[in-house]
Amino acid sequence: MGLSANQRKRLSDLTAELHEIIGNSLHPDGRPMTFAELEDECIEVGDLLTATVLQQRVAERSAPEEMPCCPNCERQPTPLADDEARVLQTDRGEVAWMESAYECGHCRRTFFPSDG
Ligand SMILES: [Zn+2]
Repeated sequence: MGLSANQRKRLSDLTAELHEIIGNSLHPDGRPMTFAELEDECIEVGDLLTATVLQQRVAERSAPEEMPCCPNCERQPTPLADDEARVLQTDRGEVAWMESAYECGHCRRTFFPSDG
C-alpha cells in the first residue's frame, strides 16, 4: 500500500514516543549498545506494532453482506451461532481475532468467508 505524505509524517512523529518508551542506546551499566543490539530492539518494537495493528485491522473488517457459499461445493452453508477464534502466525508474530464462521452440511466442514 502507498502511504500518503501526511500518513508518513504522522507515523514518523510517533517514533519520538517509541524512542521515549524503549529508552536510550545504553545498557543499564552505561555501556553503549552495538548496532546489532539496537537493530534487534527496533525489530522487536516493529514486529509488536505490526502484529498489534494487523490484529486491530483484521478484527474491524465487516462481515459479508450476502450469505457466502461453501468454497468446496458452493452450496448454502449455515452460519454458526458463535464467532470462532482465529489465530494466524504471521512473519511478525501471532495475530488473533474473532470472526463469523459457517458450516456446510454437505461437506461437513466449517469455513470463514474471508478465506474464500
Ligand atoms: Zn460444501
